[in-house]
Amino acid sequence: MQPLIELNNVRRSYQQGGGELEVLHGISLQIYPGEMVAIIGPSGSGKSTLMNIIGCLDTPTSGSYRVNGTDTAKLLPDDLAELRRDFFGFIFQRYHLLGHLSAQENVEVPAIYAGVRPGKRSLRSEQILAQLGLGQRLDYKPSQLSGGQQQRVSIARALMNGGQIILADEPTGALDTKSGAEVMKILSKLNAQGHTIILVTHDPKIAACAKRIITIEDGSIKSDALNADLVDAPPAAGGSGSIVKNIWAKSFSAFYDRFKEAFIMAWRAMLANRMRTLLTMLGIIIGIMAVVSVVALARGASEQIMANISSLGTNTITIYPGARMGDVRSGRVRTLTERDLHALSGQPFADSVSASVQASVLLRRGNLEYNATAQGVSAEMFRVYGYTVSQGRLFTQGDVTQNLQICVIDHNTAENLFGRTDPIGKTILVNAVPLAVVGVLEEKDSPFVRPDSLNVYLPYTAAMTRLFKQDYLSSIVVRVAQGFSTAVAERALVRLLTARHGRQDFFIQSSDTIMKSISSATLTFTLLISAIAVISLVVGGIGVMNIMLVSVTERTREIGIRMAVGARQSDILAQFLIEAVMVCLIGGFVGVILTFALGHAVQTLSSSIVLSFSWASVLAAVFTSSLIGIGFGFMPARAASRLNPIEALARE
Ligand code: ADP
Ligand code: MG
Repeated sequence: MQPLIELNNVRRSYQQGGGELEVLHGISLQIYPGEMVAIIGPSGSGKSTLMNIIGCLDTPTSGSYRVNGTDTAKLLPDDLAELRRDFFGFIFQRYHLLGHLSAQENVEVPAIYAGVRPGKRSLRSEQILAQLGLGQRLDYKPSQLSGGQQQRVSIARALMNGGQIILADEPTGALDTKSGAEVMKILSKLNAQGHTIILVTHDPKIAACAKRIITIEDGSIKSDALNADLVDAPPAAGGSGSIVKNIWAKSFSAFYDRFKEAFIMAWRAMLANRMRTLLTMLGIIIGIMAVVSVVALARGASEQIMANISSLGTNTITIYPGARMGDVRSGRVRTLTERDLHALSGQPFADSVSASVQASVLLRRGNLEYNATAQGVSAEMFRVYGYTVSQGRLFTQGDVTQNLQICVIDHNTAENLFGRTDPIGKTILVNAVPLAVVGVLEEKDSPFVRPDSLNVYLPYTAAMTRLFKQDYLSSIVVRVAQGFSTAVAERALVRLLTARHGRQDFFIQSSDTIMKSISSATLTFTLLISAIAVISLVVGGIGVMNIMLVSVTERTREIGIRMAVGARQSDILAQFLIEAVMVCLIGGFVGVILTFALGHAVQTLSSSIVLSFSWASVLAAVFTSSLIGIGFGFMPARAASRLNPIEALARE
């Protein structure tokens, strides 16, 4: 008969303070199916080390170890995990149950990693627990169970996937005599049912329950003998209990099920550390809020500017003297005249043409004096800029042609010159020229007018002839007629004026070009400020990484247990990665919702702040936060998956 387990001259040494400490000195041993073996020896003799090698949690430094004829040295980590999962069942002195799972859930863990269907899983775990007398304790947490009960749960877990070989390291070490005897009775019964049992103990009374007793001292086998008291017991039929591997375990739904379980485990871990999870999330929440609200704010501002510009009429072309904006010589360019205005208004592409002249002036009324800006404009200009009056009226085209000495003043001017008295019909002196006030403009938030400036508007005809005594204009605005494209109108206009002036001593600006330049400016601005917001998101991500690393360290024992019952490295990786992604995703969602709520509140409180939320930025935020989860969660998750199971188990 082929031995189930075959060790050949197995040595194991540890690195210790620069030197090597050999703990096992060439162990050779064969165990056959159906045996019940006790390994006995004093504390520190190397029993646990040997047991860990047998259970594929550890590998020999030298020598060979075969399981069922297969050399374990040739197996990959996932193959070893499969052996631990499907072939071995571990029972530890300190039970090693997962504290946040119920008895039944603990028992099911190995089956989850084996890819057993949920229904089948719960049925089997219930059955096994019932057989071990825990049918009434399925939903109890380990902390609610006695030591003996916990050890029975761990036996059930060892049996979950078949447990053809049960490895028990001091299974009674932490139990009182009665519970210990119970556990031993269960192990004997399992052996009678066909399970191969390997038991480690320092207690000869416990070892006496086994049919074969191996004594180990200082890492070497001292004796290996059959137990005289039990020799007459019939040898059990070998190798039963291994559940038939189902094809389902490799199917997509099994994969999905494992993913779902990893998801649930991650969720439970998050719930188990609510406060910490919340604080970690806070970093992501703040980061996401920063990004989403900054983008909304920038978009809102640019939309507002765009709306203001389009209130100028989408198809306007403005002509200024000089070579370009800010040309120092533009003050001396006096070629833009009223005749140009009339010439342009005769063109088919011009729907309407209006003029403006402007200069700084001195305003006077009684003994009050102010510096102000006087603008000579066409009546059209009010409509173009979207100005309305709060008192009186605007002047009309008729007033302009009649060259009337009237004016419309803005809100600030009215307040400064007239205070509470009604300005309509009163006369003010503008550079000593008397103008009758016919209207007061409504106060308006405009990006084009400084809130503290004083503005007086009068017909450009009156401004040119009476106020400034100049025959040239500061600018001409042409509204492009329907059916003409701005580009075509621009070309025709430039040709006409160049011909009239003899050279191009003017420059034009169409609302199109303004919009383009503003939208590119706001884009740059948005990108810049978003980059700053993204930095806060990255800081949040680093927070996630930090907490995940802490979490891995804190849950090292849990990871060790999961590995001992057969979790693959990928299972551990997935669990921690999912946890990181979930923290980030939930943080992202909460951040988005909070931003919306906050934005709504701000907008109801103040109308001057315009937020424009875009679904794209929300999607981007959520996408980024999951990327951050993956990016910053990967390192800790990989660290977890690469833990050495024995060292992990040893950690308290
Ligand atoms: P037992 O289970 O028989 O009490 P162990 O197998 O746990 O003994 O330990 C055997 C010897 O190996 C002890 O002297 C222990 O100090 C040493 N040992 C165990 N694990 C390590 C380790 N990770 N590093 C260094 N020495 C170890
Ligand atoms: Mg030990």
